[in-house]
Amino acid sequence: MKSLKFKNSEEKVPIGKIVCVGRNYAAHAKELGNDVPDQFPIIFLKPASNVIFSGQSVIHPPYSNNLHHEVELVLYIGADIKNANDETAEAAIQGYTVGLDMTLRDLQFEFKEKGDPWTLAKCFDTAAVLTDVVLKSNYNLKGDENISLFVNGIVRQNSSIKNMIFPPVEIVKFISARMTLEKGDLIFTGTPEGVGRVVPGDKIEASLENVGSITTQII
Ligand code: ZN
Repeated sequence: MKSLKFKNSEEKVPIGKIVCVGRNYAAHAKELGNDVPDQFPIIFLKPASNVIFSGQSVIHPPYSNNLHHEVELVLYIGADIKNANDETAEAAIQGYTVGLDMTLRDLQFEFKEKGDPWTLAKCFDTAAVLTDVVLKSNYNLKGDENISLFVNGIVRQNSSIKNMIFPPVEIVKFISARMTLEKGDLIFTGTPEGVGRVVPGDKIEASLENVGSITTQII
């Protein structure tokens, strides 16, 4: 079982479920040819066993020819919560980290066309890259932090979390009205525009201002 690591704390918390939001930045929805959602976010899951940490390598699955990077703000849920309101949702978000939602875009397009679930496009070993969680007691997000990703030193994604369509509290309210969130769960909040292909040998550096950064390479 995989555990979360925290900045400035020895605490270790087992990773629960990883809930991911799709199309949460208008410019990213458009770049993939999708409608910009106005009512409900798209939700999918990743298993905790997919997680690796900054410094470890992403293993390119042999059955895909289009592995994409997606850098995202990740929320750490530190309390059990169901049917959250504004206040309890805010209280349950006890920290933040930055994450990579590695995606097999060729498989995802095939599944979308057939109307099949995205599972195998989003879930594979090393498909979720994380770094240490920063507890809110150490840093509280202002809401306009820069989020960026570089491949081999060249900028690919560069935006601000203020461009998210559904902000963290709304995401937690939406999800917790449909499934209980528990201590140790993580929420990937969607990626800004600029997603693109990586191949073995590429080096990724991704960061969320004042929260953390990830270094990984594709093998
Ligand atoms: Zn994503």
